[in-house]
This record gives sequence, C-alpha cells and structure tokens, in this order.
Amino acid sequence: MNDVGRWHELADAIKPETRLFIDGRFVDAVDGQRFATLNPVDGKVIAEVVCGNEKDVDRAVKAARRAFRSGAWSKKAPRDRMDVMYRIAQGIEAHLEDFALLDCLDMGKSISELTGGDVPFSALTFQYFGEAIDKAEGVVTSTDPAALHLIVREPLGVVACVTPWNYPLMMAAWKVAPALAAGNSVILKPAEQSPLSALLLAKIIHEAGVPEGVFNVVNGFGEDAGKALALHMDVDKIGFTGSTEVGKLMLIYSGQSNMKKVTTECGGKSPQIIFPDADIDTAVTYSVNNIYTNQGEVCSASSRLIVHESIYDEFVAKFVEEAKRFQPGDPLDPATTMGPLVTREQQKRVLAYIEKGKRDGGRLVFGGGVPAGLEAGNYVQPTLFADVTRDMTIAREEIFGPVGAVMKFRDYDDALAIANDSIYGLASAVWTKDLVTAHKAAQDIEAGIVWVNCYEHGDMTQPWGGYKQSGQGRDKCFETLLAHMQTKSVWVHLG
Ligand code: NAD
Repeated sequence: MNDVGRWHELADAIKPETRLFIDGRFVDAVDGQRFATLNPVDGKVIAEVVCGNEKDVDRAVKAARRAFRSGAWSKKAPRDRMDVMYRIAQGIEAHLEDFALLDCLDMGKSISELTGGDVPFSALTFQYFGEAIDKAEGVVTSTDPAALHLIVREPLGVVACVTPWNYPLMMAAWKVAPALAAGNSVILKPAEQSPLSALLLAKIIHEAGVPEGVFNVVNGFGEDAGKALALHMDVDKIGFTGSTEVGKLMLIYSGQSNMKKVTTECGGKSPQIIFPDADIDTAVTYSVNNIYTNQGEVCSASSRLIVHESIYDEFVAKFVEEAKRFQPGDPLDPATTMGPLVTREQQKRVLAYIEKGKRDGGRLVFGGGVPAGLEAGNYVQPTLFADVTRDMTIAREEIFGPVGAVMKFRDYDDALAIANDSIYGLASAVWTKDLVTAHKAAQDIEAGIVWVNCYEHGDMTQPWGGYKQSGQGRDKCFETLLAHMQTKSVWVHLG
C-alpha cells in the first residue's frame, strides 16, 4: 500500500460507475446530460458523469416514497436493519482502496489520509448507527391510570442528503447512515466536484440488502438537482453539509415548499487560544496539522491562532519551522502530506484571500503562492500570516484552504473577545495547564466543539455541529439518529 507506482497503476485501471442510482438500478438521466469530473492534479477529465436534474430528482423521490410506504425497510425489525448496516460497513472496508482512489482522483486528498482516515471512519459510521438502532426506544409515560400513553418513534419518510466535496465519502456516510438506520428512504446528492465515490457506495448499500428505492444517488449541480430536492413537496427532511450561504438557502427552500425539516452543517473559522502556560511545542504541532490537513479544506480547520503576547514570537517561529513538514505533491504518493485544492476556482479564491491578507497588513511569514513545478494542478503552498487583527478579511471569512492567521492577545478577556468575534461557531481549542482557565474558557467559547490541549480528537459519540452560523443540528452521535425520527403520541383510553 506504500508504493506510489502501484497506486498509479490502480488509478489508471479504474473504471468508475458514472450513472445515477435510482430505485435499485444504475440509470441515465432523463434528459441524457453528463458533466466532466476533473482531476485537480492536472485538470484532466476522470469521467463524464451522468447529470441529474429536476426530472431525475422527481423519479428518485417517487421511488423513495414508494419504498418507504412498502415498509420493506421502514418497518423492518431493528435487528435485521442492524445486520444490513453492518454489511454496509464491511462492504466499505472491503473496498477501501477503491474508495480511496475515487476520492483522491476527484478532489486531491492524499491517499494515505483516505486509507487511514476517511474510508475506515465511513465504515465505522455505518457500524455505529447500526448498533444504535434498537437503542432509540419509545416511552410509556406516567399518566392517569385510565389511560395508556405511548410515545413511539417513527422514521420521517424521505430524507435528502446534500453533501460537500471536502470529505466526499465521509460526509455522505455521516448523513446517510443515521437516515437509513432510522428507517427512512434516502436520496444522496453529492457535490458536483466529487461525484464518484457515492456511486460505489450505492452499489455496496444495494448489495448489503437495502431494498430497491430505499437508497438513491442523484448527481448533478447544486442550483439544479440540489435545489430541486430542497424544494420538492414530497421530501420530509434535508440533511445538508456545505457553505453557510447555501445552508441559508436550504432554510428558504423549506419555507417556500413543504416546511421540510432542515439540518445544516456549515462553515467555520475556528479559534485556538494558546495561553502562556501552554505546552507550546504540542500546541504548535496540532496547529500546523489542523490548518494544513486536507489542504485546509476542513470545516473545523483551526484557521485563527490566538496566541498570548508573551509567547507569540516563539510560537510563530516554531510554527514556520514545523510547517515545512507539509509539502504539496502527488496525492497518490502515500508520503505526500498535501495535495492540490479541489478546483481551479477554489485555488484562485484562496490565492485572492492571500493577496487580500497582504493588502490589509497581515505579515506573510510562510508560503503564499503556487508551489514551483506544480503549476498544472490547483496547488497552493501552506501559508501563514502573522500580526493579523480582528478586522482583516482573512480573520473573518472562511478561506477553506491552507492559510492560517496568527493573532495576539493580552489577557483572558481579550482572548475570548477575539475568539467569539465571528459569525461562525463550529470548533475551538484552548491550550493551558490551568484547570480553571481551561474550564472557564470551555464555558465562554461560543462553539459546538471545544478541545482542551488537543484538536480533532473524538469518536462517534461526539456531537458534531456548530453554534451561530455554523449551522443547526448535529452529525455523528446518538442525538443524530433521533433527529431522523419523529415522535407519535398514542393515547389509549382504558376507561
Ligand atoms: P456548497 O455549499 O457550495 O455545496 C454543498 C452542496 O450543496 C453541494 O452538493 C452543492 O451541489 C449543493 N448546492 C450548492 N448550491 C445549491 C443550491 N442553490 N441549492 C441546493 N443545493 C446546492 O459547499 P462546498 O463548497 O461543497 O463545501 C464547502 C463548505 O462546506 C465549507 O463552507 C465547509 O465549511 C462546509 N463543510 C461543513 C462541515 C460541517 O460539518 N460543519 C463539513 C464539511 C464541509
């Protein structure tokens, strides 16, 4: 698995499925459209993928509703549904290399991150929600002896999952697994930049025994297939992961159609506060990893490093030294730590933020351009700005690329004011050896996740989601399973 030549041979030989998956079959689009998916390493076409629109969405919704009403999945005994979920997890593990290749080719993520992270975590997601199925119990309430009051949990119906390109398989797994586990029918609309792995997932889900029509994949563009799903009158819920801008549109579409439930996992501008008593070397290592991993295309990337003035210079110097570990290169090489950005457009966007950072007075201390010799791809050097202030665009907007910003603070109140001065509230971290400071900051930070003396640690029990404009709802965790169900009150008169 460590041989770059072998990965290239596998990549050359791969023949990805490109059609939509509707009602248990791979099919072409009603209007026969296709779109090209490009390799971000060189801009070459990987495949011409079938492009769904409103008509295909409608076909998928009808199939999903029919399957839901049939009860073949929605009323399947929990233990039987669990077995199918476990088989999906095993199927993902068995196709580890295929999934890793598809996501690597589509969006440029390093192959070792995929084989060691995204793919096994996706399998674990199906396993976790499988395990949780029969723990979602109903309630018999304490009430009048002349009545029996049952609160039962039922699936919602047809759930549409609209996902981003930064962790194509894993974000699909986070959305699809709880929806399926709860007994819903599902339609997945992957991002148009990374359409391939969802189709392999469809094959595995089908082979694991999920009945026809229960799981569907409609690739296509956001403003077209995505919008059609969000406006559809027979979709009961949208589970969305993506930008805050589109997350807000999802809420509007719901109001314009059938008030479907909406959960959104959106952008971030996550702060790490490094107090003067922190273990600086460890804080530096985590800070470097968590702004450059996945090319910085991570919702929870630690893009704001808020460092006490007494250790500021030391922190910046150590960061720059350690950042050299991240060398952009061929994502099919298992030794590569950073691949290209997903598209040329995303590369231009990130480079424009770097220029803006310089114009606004940020001090560029690392990277800042396109790495030499890699101009054919969408590469951006790992980049760090020091002396960033709260008002600068690079401190306020989500860049979604490998660009860190270091900011200086005087005291606790100053640090918290900087950290909370954001429309976002997804993740955060506090670095200190002092228990009181750690707990106080964990209380005061406006974010869905607070890490203390670490970053990106967690497991499937961890609620993943944001405060403020980072969205509403949570991924992973037991609460997410319940969010894919609704309660019904059954009141039996015994008098
Ligand atoms: P995006 O919002 O552009 O697209 C996400 C999905 O929405 C895609 O499938 C796209 O086709 C679809 N879409 C776009 N416009 C639409 C419309 N008008 N109607 C319906 N659907 C539409 O986001 P992206 O660029 O794919 O992903 C990057 C964003 O995702 C970043 O902001 C990142 O922070 C966020 N993200 C958040 C989390 C989290 O857990 N909070 C995880 C991963 C990514």
